[in-house]
Amino acid sequence: MSKIVCVLYDDPVDGYPPAYARDDVPTIAGYPDGQTAPTPERIDFKPGELLGCVSGELGLRNFLESRGHTLVVTSDKEAPDSVLDRELVDADVVISQPFWPAYMTRERIEKARNLQLIITAGIGSDHTDLDAAIENNVTVAEVTYSNSISVAEHVVMMILGLVRNYIPQHQWVLDKGWNIADAVSRSYDLEAMHVGSVAAGRIGTAVLRRLKPFGVHLHYTDKHRLPSEVEEELGLTYHATPQDMAPVCDVVTINCPLHPETEHMFNDELLGSMKRGAYLINTARGKICDRDAIVRALESGQLAGYAGDVWFPQPAPADHPWRTMPHHGMTPHTSGTSLSAQARYAGGTREILECWLDDRPIRDEYLIVKGGALAGAGAHSYTAGAKTGER
Ligand code: NDP
Repeated sequence: MSKIVCVLYDDPVDGYPPAYARDDVPTIAGYPDGQTAPTPERIDFKPGELLGCVSGELGLRNFLESRGHTLVVTSDKEAPDSVLDRELVDADVVISQPFWPAYMTRERIEKARNLQLIITAGIGSDHTDLDAAIENNVTVAEVTYSNSISVAEHVVMMILGLVRNYIPQHQWVLDKGWNIADAVSRSYDLEAMHVGSVAAGRIGTAVLRRLKPFGVHLHYTDKHRLPSEVEEELGLTYHATPQDMAPVCDVVTINCPLHPETEHMFNDELLGSMKRGAYLINTARGKICDRDAIVRALESGQLAGYAGDVWFPQPAPADHPWRTMPHHGMTPHTSGTSLSAQARYAGGTREILECWLDDRPIRDEYLIVKGGALAGAGAHSYTAGAKTGER
């Protein structure tokens, strides 16, 4: 029998379950590239329920306990004697979400002598030291595509929010004002701007596709170039490097994974090469940007705005400078955990567990590390290395 430790974010402060705004969510059977949505044998939750918090338990308890396995669910992951650290010692599986990541450092992986599988309930396994997973023959899997469109929608919202200056305008309404001149003094149209995506994977391409009808000039950079038909369809200009692309863009959206090649990609030098008054949106990972360089660029006016939902560490401490820097549109890490997305990544987590417990292969597209090497989606998009350290 296996022990599964699941680290999830805290319940809503008003209690669980929340009062839901809607009765259901649309069913999505597949994704734009033909990949099917998760296909667990069954689910024990209603799509649209809050599953990503401690009481939601990703809808896994009945399934696991009915088979005799042990499920431990906690949000306590940081203190030296956290529940995670105590329960890890004899855990076979650790599950967490990027929104509230269990940082699976080398130390934790080596301490967990039974550990065989680390699942990201969502996308992005940079909170796991992939080198350590490789060396300790631990499989790492994530639910590829489960929330890619959710993030793409958030990116488009944030681009419009920054360029049109939505948040300060809304604040004038809350403050009982009618200060149109104040509200529009930083407000522009997105139309005809140059918008570039760092990476054109699932999220990056979905963002580009959604932006096309806005009449913008679209750019991208990626390690592998998109098929020419896609470039033509979307009118994309390809740049070999972010350094080539950034200076020509009014808006840059970051959609690559965090790995050694991308850590602190947006530093003083790259930010300094951008147009004065450019906007930067980062829903990929906080550490792809140099935290303090972003603050400096906003304070100097080099950037007109920065928005995103990814921070380091997570949860972000109360004094994290991105909470108080000027002209930002940050959210907590929410873009990929809409109730719609949760139904898919909870289903995908269950699918991965069903496969693993029944000794059936996990889908290749869900694999990041297997058999002591990068595998599946991981072999395509990641480079091995630890990204779990400081800042
Ligand atoms: P994909 O794997 O589909 O796409 C990632 C793309 O990044 C690939 O096209 C890859 O290139 C490219 N890439 C990798 N390294 C570089 C680099 N050095 N320079 C330029 N491009 C690079 O992933 P998704 O689109 O689904 O997700 C992307 C990231 O978004 C995730 O890794 C995660 O960090 C983040 N994310 C955030 C969420 C949130 O809630 N905020 C939710 C989901 C994901 P190629 O394949 O051509 O090698």
